[in-house]
Amino acid sequence: RDTIQEKWGQKTSTSYTRHLYMKANPARRTALVIAERMRSEVPDFSGSRANLEVCILKYLAQEEKFENYKLYLCSPVDLLESYIQTHVKTYCLDQNRRLVMFLNTTLTQYYETIQKAVFASTAVVKGRRDSNKIISLWLDEFCRELGGVLRLPRGDLVGIEHLEITDIEFLNDAMMKALSPLRNRLKEEFACANLSSFEKQPHRILLEQFPGCKEQCPFCGSVCTNTIPNHDGDHQLVFHRPQALAGWKFYKTDILVIDICSSCVASDMSFRLGDDLRFPYKKYRDAGPPFNTWKILPDSSMQKYWKWFVCHFRAQLEKFFKGKFYDIGKIPTSWHTVTKQEALDELR
Ligand SMILES: [Zn+2]
Ligand SMILES: [Zn+2]
Repeated sequence: RDTIQEKWGQKTSTSYTRHLYMKANPARRTALVIAERMRSEVPDFSGSRANLEVCILKYLAQEEKFENYKLYLCSPVDLLESYIQTHVKTYCLDQNRRLVMFLNTTLTQYYETIQKAVFASTAVVKGRRDSNKIISLWLDEFCRELGGVLRLPRGDLVGIEHLEITDIEFLNDAMMKALSPLRNRLKEEFACANLSSFEKQPHRILLEQFPGCKEQCPFCGSVCTNTIPNHDGDHQLVFHRPQALAGWKFYKTDILVIDICSSCVASDMSFRLGDDLRFPYKKYRDAGPPFNTWKILPDSSMQKYWKWFVCHFRAQLEKFFKGKFYDIGKIPTSWHTVTKQEALDELR
C-alpha cells in the first residue's frame, strides 16, 4: 500500500464518515423518537387534543396558581406550548436521563447501519478488482445499502471517485477505522446534551401532533375545538364559560358579566360594541367579524369547573379585569358549594 492511499485513509475516510453522521443527524431523529415515545407513554399525550385540554384544566386546578390561569385565559396557545415543553423537559431530563439514552440509541443504530453498508458494498464489488470504476461501483452499492435509513445523495460522495483507489479492502478498512472514534466522540458530546441543542425542539414536534383551530370565542375566550387549522365553516365549541373570563363588563359599569355566551344567545339580552353599536345576543352575527364566524348554540349548562374557578379566584379575577361580581353580575349562590374535587370529577 502506497503513501497516497495511506494519506487518503486518514483524511478522506474521516471526513466522509463525519459527513455521514452529520447527514444522519442523530439529534433530529432523536427528537422524533422522543415525541413518539411520549405519545405512547405519557397519558396526557396519548389521546386526542380534547383529552389534552382536559389534562391541562386538571393541571391548572392542581397547581392552583392564578398566574397560570391568566396565561390560559389570555393566550391558550402559549399555555399549551409551555405545558408540553415542561412535560418534555421532565420526561427527557429527570433522573432517568432519557435524552442521553435516546441519543445514544439513535447513534448506535446509525453506526450499525453504516457499518453494515460498508461490509455489504465491499462484498459486492470485491470480485471486480480489475475494474477501474471500482470506487464508483462501491459507492453506488454503499448509497443503496444505506437506503431508507440514511438517505445519502450519491452526489455527496463524488469527490471520492477521483482518488486513485484500487484496493477496495483498503477502502473498507479505512471507513471502518474512522467510524468508531467518531461515534465515541459524538457519544461524549451527547453526555452533556440538553434540549436547547436541538435544531427543532422535541416539544415543537409533539405540539404539531395536536393541531387545531386557535380561534377564541369573542365572548368568553374559549378555544374552538375543531382539530383542523383554518377549517371551513363556523368556529364552534361545546363548553362556553362566563364572559367575565374574557373581561366583559356591563355597559358603563364595573360589573363583570357572569353569564355564559351560550345562554345569552337564547336570552333577550344584548351587547354593545362601543357607544353606538348595540346588538341583541339572538342576532350576535350581525355584529360582524369575529362574531359572525362563530356558531354559538343555546345551552344553559355550564361546567362545574368554571363555577369553582370563578368562586375560588374571585378576588384575583376582579383585580385582573378591574371589575366586580355584584348586582346583575353576582355569582349565583349555588356555585359556591361546588368543590374542586367535584369540578375535576366532572371533567373525566
Ligand atoms: Zn363563548
Ligand atoms: Zn375554529
